[in-house]
Amino acid sequence: MSQTYQLIWFRQDLRILDHAALWHATQAGPTIALVVLSPSQWQKHDDAAIKIEFYLRQLQQLKQQLADLNIPVLVQTIPFWKDIPDFFLHLIQKLNIENIYANIELGINELKRDQTVQQQLNQHKKELILFHDRTLFPVASIRNQSNLPYQVFGAFKKTCYQRLQHGLPQCYPSPTKQQPLSLDISAFQQDDIQTLQRDYIKQIQDTNFSQWQVGEAHALMLLDQFIDECLNDYKTARDLPALSGTSQLSAYLNIGIISIRQCIQALFRQQHGHFEIQSEGQQTWLDELLWREFYQHILFDFPKVSKHHPFQSHTQKICWREDPIALKKWQQGQTGIPIIDAGMRQMLATGWMHNRVRMICAMFLSKNLLIDWRKGEQWFMRHLIDGDLAANNGGWQWCASTGTDAVPYFRVFNPTTQSQKFDPEGEYIRKWVSELAHLDNKIIHEPYARNQPSTLDYPEPMVDLKASRLRAIEAFKSH
Ligand SMILES: Cc1cc2nc3c(=O)[nH]c(=O)nc-3n(C[C@H](O)[C@H](O)[C@H](O)COP(=O)(O)OP(=O)(O)OC[C@H]3O[C@@H](n4cnc5c(N)ncnc54)[C@H](O)[C@@H]3O)c2cc1C
Repeated sequence: MSQTYQLIWFRQDLRILDHAALWHATQAGPTIALVVLSPSQWQKHDDAAIKIEFYLRQLQQLKQQLADLNIPVLVQTIPFWKDIPDFFLHLIQKLNIENIYANIELGINELKRDQTVQQQLNQHKKELILFHDRTLFPVASIRNQSNLPYQVFGAFKKTCYQRLQHGLPQCYPSPTKQQPLSLDISAFQQDDIQTLQRDYIKQIQDTNFSQWQVGEAHALMLLDQFIDECLNDYKTARDLPALSGTSQLSAYLNIGIISIRQCIQALFRQQHGHFEIQSEGQQTWLDELLWREFYQHILFDFPKVSKHHPFQSHTQKICWREDPIALKKWQQGQTGIPIIDAGMRQMLATGWMHNRVRMICAMFLSKNLLIDWRKGEQWFMRHLIDGDLAANNGGWQWCASTGTDAVPYFRVFNPTTQSQKFDPEGEYIRKWVSELAHLDNKIIHEPYARNQPSTLDYPEPMVDLKASRLRAIEAFKSH
């Protein structure tokens, strides 16, 4: 009988260590790897060029790592996911593939894609075998007493803690090198990585994308460095955008260069892998990882959030303002509110924005400007290197008071007060809003506060913060 192969289909999980599907595929027999590149689908999902370039760069590294394991890699461009099932049909007819292995993805289009592939394969007595890998706990496994999904983070977190007390999720062993396969896959290859990379690099010429180094070893180094050097101060440092007080691992987690299990294991390394919280920093970082977990579970349990619907349906009726000029000022970091402009410019320049500032910017758009949060969600997605439907949607709906466990609508951050509190020396503002760099620590947060005629080459605030706050509260109250 001729040799059969297992196919490992990599998606948002570009690594070889602690990889559920890869481990199972290689255990089942000689393995071939597949990566499908879908530029038109990515565009439909508003994936940022900087995120795709990062993905393609990591893919080059993954190919090398797989070559070292003697796992041949097939890279195929299929612009839209709807055409993937036919490709599989062709593939299983040409290559003697037994089963296909992949890690579950939770967006509605991803689930639909996999369901269609599954149906196609089943007709030929093959399986798409899916594994839980993106989350600490399988989706649909964290339930309340009525066996329903949690809609409030605190209760979700409590159940996660109970589960962790029974043992931390363990990492999968590393795959071992297989015998070289006597198989020529070049006929199926349509490897456009370099051409695509060139296209995406053109789109991000003005961005400092090279600071985002790829590679599993690099991501693990960042993780270790964070745990050793920053975890102790994380509780306070995480809110100060001028510091590098957070892990900056979100982009790596999102395309799976590092796994969530690796993060949790590193967090409890000092406790020899036991769930014993021994510092505020440890607890706070764990909680952030669980916010990520919570939003992934929400995405799966409430598919409406994938379809641009607010989580709280009654907020559908809020009358958002149509104001393209205001939207543009916010997008370009020209609002006249220094902390907002610093954040928006940080994102345009680097593909990343500090979490505290993401909250301030999102709340300003959805409350002070009363512009539909979906416009902000889309802008973030189009520019963030860590753009992730679950976390981005969750973050935006939290700020806009339309989501799970969202901030009450009448609690509206004052960006100036936030700026004075979290960037007291104005360092973050100075870095990103160079027009204000010469101002002293007091004035920099609101350069026009004293109403003196100004020679600043910087816009005046585009809205009155107090009046716009009241307008937002009224709009939420009366919908
Ligand atoms: C409006 C808005 C939009 C956001 N969009 C995204 C997004 O597209 N992608 C994304 O990964 N995160 C998003 N976040 C969450 C958060 O801002 C980033 O995860 C965080 O800034 C990444 O930096 P870090 O890796 O240094 O985080 P750390 O502070 O080191 O946290 C560790 C990890 O926990 C997770 N995490 C931390 N905070 C949150 C949170 N509030 N919600 C969900 N997960 C969290 C991330 O995976 C992060 O890498 C958004 C938050 C807001 C308020």
